[in-house]
Amino acid sequence: MTPDEIRRQLEFYRDLGVKEIYKRKATIAGAESGTQPSAAVPAATPESSPSSALLPDHVLPPLAPAGDTMLQIQQDIGDCRRCRLCEQRSKIVFGSGNEKAALVFVGEGPGAEEDAQGLPFVGRAGQLLTQMIENTAAKDGIPILRRDVYICNVVKCRPPENRTPQPDEMEICGQFLFRQLMVIRPKAICALGSTAAKALLATKDGVMRLRGQWHKWRDIPVMVTYHPSYLLRPYNQNAKREAWEDLKKILHYVYD
Ligand code: URA
Repeated sequence: MTPDEIRRQLEFYRDLGVKEIYKRKATIAGAESGTQPSAAVPAATPESSPSSALLPDHVLPPLAPAGDTMLQIQQDIGDCRRCRLCEQRSKIVFGSGNEKAALVFVGEGPGAEEDAQGLPFVGRAGQLLTQMIENTAAKDGIPILRRDVYICNVVKCRPPENRTPQPDEMEICGQFLFRQLMVIRPKAICALGSTAAKALLATKDGVMRLRGQWHKWRDIPVMVTYHPSYLLRPYNQNAKREAWEDLKKILHYVYD
């Protein structure tokens, strides 16, 4: 394994929220491979690239469960009780749309309507998102409907009073989002709003700064744009125009 491959693999673990990786004891011929920790190696940060001497290639398990599927992810989520968001949710909102989509939209977390129906973006913001996708595509001669893309959220349970998800909630639920993205492997991702941008790009920059340009989540291009709820506020009409521009850029990149 090259240092670059190790770095990418460690970045993946960091994305999953894994803070420490333990070195397995060397396998002795005929004996079971030990899993007890012998030395902790801190996961890579963007500034620190690990040395391959520390991490021989038998140390790291595969990037994601082998043969991962959406069904497997949904089963692993199960009746999730991993964080406090389970306490007030009605339904877990896994995601919906084409599981082989070339384009995935990632929102923040379910609202009241989504929590009741178990489907993402079905409330007012969702109706605006549907219109944005379908009208922009139709106007630009791109033959797609909402059902052709995949839509999901950073957190799968509704935060009380629609508050912003907290970092630990994003970290716990983010592992399922990342698995969904790895299974779909879209040509591009659209991050709707700052929570999705934070989760995918590990940045503190706001949408105004990030939007309109391509970023990357692992090797997949990411476009950040305004969350549709923000666009519903009457004083944000300028942002609406910008969001349409962003969406046009994404649709042409993915479907031309
Ligand atoms: N807002 C989101 O971020 N996600 C939804 O599913 C609905 C509203």
